Amino acid sequence: MNSNRILQIAYLLFFSLTTGTLFTTIIPSCSQPPSSQITQTYNIPEEYLIEADNIPSFWINTIPEIEDYIKNHVKKGQINHAGTSAGGRIIQSITYGKKRKEGGTTTFSGSLGVSDIRHYRGADSENLVYMAISAVHGYEVEGIVGMINLLSVLETGKDLKGTAWPELTRMADSVDRIVLIPLVNPDGRARVPLKMEPNRGGAPDAFNIHEYLNTGGNRDGTIIGWPAVKEFIPMDFSKVGFPGGYPNDAGVNIMHDDFFGTVQPETRMLFDIAASEKPDLIINMHTGVPRNNYFMTIHRPFCEPQLQPAFDRLYQTINTRLTTQNLRGSTDIALETDPAGADMKGYNLSTALNLHCGALSVVIESACHGFSGTNLSGAPSLHSPQMLVDAQLIAHQESLRFLLQSGGRAQWLK
Ligand SMILES: [Zn+2]
Repeated sequence: MNSNRILQIAYLLFFSLTTGTLFTTIIPSCSQPPSSQITQTYNIPEEYLIEADNIPSFWINTIPEIEDYIKNHVKKGQINHAGTSAGGRIIQSITYGKKRKEGGTTTFSGSLGVSDIRHYRGADSENLVYMAISAVHGYEVEGIVGMINLLSVLETGKDLKGTAWPELTRMADSVDRIVLIPLVNPDGRARVPLKMEPNRGGAPDAFNIHEYLNTGGNRDGTIIGWPAVKEFIPMDFSKVGFPGGYPNDAGVNIMHDDFFGTVQPETRMLFDIAASEKPDLIINMHTGVPRNNYFMTIHRPFCEPQLQPAFDRLYQTINTRLTTQNLRGSTDIALETDPAGADMKGYNLSTALNLHCGALSVVIESACHGFSGTNLSGAPSLHSPQMLVDAQLIAHQESLRFLLQSGGRAQWLK
């Protein structure tokens, strides 16, 4: 770092402190070592960076908080340096239980050719392996908070609110292996300097600030928005006002990486872990549900057609519990658990992970803490932070229940 660069950073930080309108991140270039850090300045409106009052202590989701929690509270799980982001940031995984042994004799595709997954997975093919990831989009923090609270349950039997989860604890002990990655995209998370937005209510424009922070803003201050944010991958940061939390520091939205080309380090990490762990199920936690049915939503993946019945069963299992806990858009169990209600998404990371290792790979979307929506009758639906965490933990718990009851991939296709 030369002296001019130091002065530039110092000036910008000073400007930020005195005006509150310029936010500075120091971003290591993806192609250079961290010593050649560059400065990016983003002119985010001051009101967008207001924190909520009285943030609950269980709402852990910033990079320092995540690192601190893992370092000081994970004792039973194994902490692993899973990978390094495009921006040079460390990505951690936490694993529980016994890893599948090596021993397959063919590729996943080869095992499909002989209609027997054992030839890919090896002798312990029937072991049950659960993998969950969150914050592939860095500022979709509900999944991170849920994963940290899941770690708390796995370590102590209770979430960080003090609620015991005996069924979740028992089922976690009953599967063979759990692999958790709380923050897949630290570059995107680092770009958004907020821990918790104030809830701005349910007015039509109430979601604008969250959407700006999540999908980014144009130079004129307008929101890039979803799905327009997918028109440019990689995103050229010099052409936008604020890149948002979606991409890594190379500008790539990992959900839509160039999977058959040269992949980003975050994608490579996920592929390598998937190939090594050979999970039965991968749950990929996001934030973003329709405002007229403002509840946790499970997307049907575009994957091997023969896995669709297993997906239906997973969908029914999770939504049954969410509905009985008043965490779906109505109390109609038949409606809420009908798998015909799950829209199939296009080819994305879920597809790539499925075809890479045979896992049923599923995206689950959460409501956002920063604004609200309605239930299916049109009544306002406000999710408290406690409810958001409960929905996350129920999704993990019921995913484990589905795995134990269905017997995993080795049994699904029999
Ligand atoms: Zn997302």
